[in-house]
Amino acid sequence: MLEFDVLEQYDHEQVVFCSNKPSGLKAIIAIHDTTLGPAIGGTRMWNYSSVDAAVKDVLRLSRGMTYKAAVAGLNLGGGNAVILGDSATQKNELLFRTFGKFIAGLSGRYITAEDVGTDVRDMEYIRMETKYVTGISKALGGSGDPSPVTAYGVYVGMKACAHEKWGSDSLRGRKIVIQGAGQLARYLVEHLYNEGAEIYITDIHDTKVKKVLETVKAYVIKPEEIYDIDCDIFSPCALGGIINDESIAKLKCEIIAGGANNQLEDENKHGQMLLDKNILYAPDYVINSGGLINVANEIEGYRQDRAMKQAESIYDIVKRIFQIAKDESIPTNIASNKRAEERLRRIGGITKIYSGSSTFSGRLGELAKR
Ligand code: NAD
Repeated sequence: MLEFDVLEQYDHEQVVFCSNKPSGLKAIIAIHDTTLGPAIGGTRMWNYSSVDAAVKDVLRLSRGMTYKAAVAGLNLGGGNAVILGDSATQKNELLFRTFGKFIAGLSGRYITAEDVGTDVRDMEYIRMETKYVTGISKALGGSGDPSPVTAYGVYVGMKACAHEKWGSDSLRGRKIVIQGAGQLARYLVEHLYNEGAEIYITDIHDTKVKKVLETVKAYVIKPEEIYDIDCDIFSPCALGGIINDESIAKLKCEIIAGGANNQLEDENKHGQMLLDKNILYAPDYVINSGGLINVANEIEGYRQDRAMKQAESIYDIVKRIFQIAKDESIPTNIASNKRAEERLRRIGGITKIYSGSSTFSGRLGELAKR
């Protein structure tokens, strides 16, 4: 049973349980914080082992979105949704349209997007019932695949790291090891290759690596070799939790800068361990915020050139976080949390809980003036 103290633990504003027998929908929408604007965040479809596990996940993910939007300088809050079920066998139009009606009922307090287990088609079903959805296809006026903008943000964030570490943001001749050769990595390596970096890449699927090698030259390594390679930059672009006791002991890099979510297995412990080892860590949710910047752009009428331009700001944001970390002698992941909390506190003084709106872009336009 969800109690108020669960909401109060991380200051969640609202948790909505959605149930509909004809469609089989069981979903939870968590709105963490709307200080900066309507809550945005993906819908994850997952076969959770229990309702408790689903609640835990949606609370954690929605809180993470508040920090991500705040650090990225967006006028959006943090939210997330989970649909309980098997995305391989239980997805259909009725399920997502029904879910869309629940989102519509929140009148814009929550805007959804894709996440693990959901895709563009699911977002388009939701769009049939509500406008509070992003990540629909370009053909329908949406932003499509966010990877090009995310990858560009990771690239500029990596340059900010290089500047911090070596006094120049050039990546020419730098040895960069990339874990994962998926959508994000595919676009990232093109920037790195064009700048003359020496690229090492791995994936558990050979076909993914082959696709990358169609456009760039790179050395291919085995997945299990990744942490043993002596390099300048290690770029996690696959899984979360890969920076842990075991990998930190092995890592021989000066910088970690990659797009994967939740890279640190334990936020409190592993950020400090990287600092002790003099490895500069670009906080994951900052450096991969291009994806969020991309969908946020869709709300105002999507233009990729504008989204790319906004993603460039990641360079300055990363540098600012490094400054806070140095000034206060704290790990960079803690410094970015502080920066997010400081922005929320500053804006929180002049705004109230976001109550939803019928004029979507009008309200966001108004928020953007703050
Ligand atoms: P993707 O599924 O296209 O690619 C991930 C790749 O990692 C796959 O090719 C997979 O085979 C590979 N992989 C999995 N386990 C591996 C291992 N142990 N060693 C090596 N490779 C492994 O996903 P993506 O869109 O490229 O996203 C990558 C990461 O970045 C994810 O953590 C995602 O949440 C995060 N992210 C992506 C975006 C985006 O716009 N694509 C935005 C924000 C965050």
